[in-house]
Amino acid sequence: MIPEPYGGHLVNRFGRRGKSPAAEELQTLPSIQLTQDESYDAEKIGIGAYSPLEGFSSGAEFESITSHTRLENGLPWSMPIVLAPSGHENTSAVSSVKKGDAVLLNDFTGRPLALLTVSEKYTLDKGAFAEKTYGTKDTSHPNVEEIANMGQVALAGSLELLRRLDSPFSSYELTPEESRSHFARMGWKSVAAYQARNPPHLAHEYIQRVTLERDDVDALFIQPVVGKLKHGDYKPEVIMEAYDVFVSRYYRKESVLLGSLSISMRYAGPRAVLFYAIVRRNYGCSHYIVGRDQAGVGSYYDPFAGHRIFDEFDVGVHPIRYNETFYCSICKNMVSTKVCPHPESSRVNTSQTRIRKILAEGGQIPHEIIRPEVAAILSRGNVTIE
Ligand SMILES: [Zn+2]
Repeated sequence: MIPEPYGGHLVNRFGRRGKSPAAEELQTLPSIQLTQDESYDAEKIGIGAYSPLEGFSSGAEFESITSHTRLENGLPWSMPIVLAPSGHENTSAVSSVKKGDAVLLNDFTGRPLALLTVSEKYTLDKGAFAEKTYGTKDTSHPNVEEIANMGQVALAGSLELLRRLDSPFSSYELTPEESRSHFARMGWKSVAAYQARNPPHLAHEYIQRVTLERDDVDALFIQPVVGKLKHGDYKPEVIMEAYDVFVSRYYRKESVLLGSLSISMRYAGPRAVLFYAIVRRNYGCSHYIVGRDQAGVGSYYDPFAGHRIFDEFDVGVHPIRYNETFYCSICKNMVSTKVCPHPESSRVNTSQTRIRKILAEGGQIPHEIIRPEVAAILSRGNVTIE
């Protein structure tokens, strides 16, 4: 069955205009300029993607999440959602606000996005944030570098979202309410979420098709992360263009929905996997696909730790775990280590690293690795974040 939202009900802190102050009134409030990461988080809290969170984490919640991987009420939760503004103007605004104050949060383009009712100010333990959440204090880790750039003082409080963020993918940026309505309209009782941060290649497609063949899965919700990614990753617009052409050409609308999720990638290995599964449950997914080394970066995490975290924490989403997948030149098929008996030398390397290398050298990507429609998009050049 389509699961209830996490924590029992879908948070909706958006569009309660009757309660929100008028534009002139907003101008009189102290304001904070959010970063891109914080803007995405504020929006996702507002639309219920982070249910049951209704605002940014308090000091006690931060401690509970980082130390115990749980909210204070005991529900498993792996990533603190922190607002610790940095920069001169922001920090002076933060220093003057008091508990109970309303603060206007402007998005990263400077437009009013949300109102925060401050419940607490606390000193952010950045060392604990990095070490306990990402398992390292090494600032060459992209998220740890972000933490280093955050302010010292964090604001907690409940949030009212004033509008959705502008997005080049607005037709794909569904709210959890919208995806749930779509699932209901289609009569889908069980939906598997596919998390992506790369254009689709045939190893991804194999996992998606095998999932669709399961009799406990009615449909697939492919939802690439299109918020802030890191240097070297594919650009979000390239990922979505590739998925758009791929899904419309190769999948049935009766069993596949394409969406997008604008949040910043948390390259936190297993903790990120758990977080993404919780978010997808809010979008209405009953199953969550976990491949090898999902949400990993460099060699910080065991590639299968993301599989095991579901043994430790039950978030009400059924994990579908896959081994490494690749094209085998003897099987003449996409296979995984679970089915193919042939030596490693028979495997065609389908890694993004290899695809990027072929592209950089101006070569043709083999059709065993990638669909020609997707290859054509990637071959245009200028497809990764510099
Ligand atoms: Zn084989």
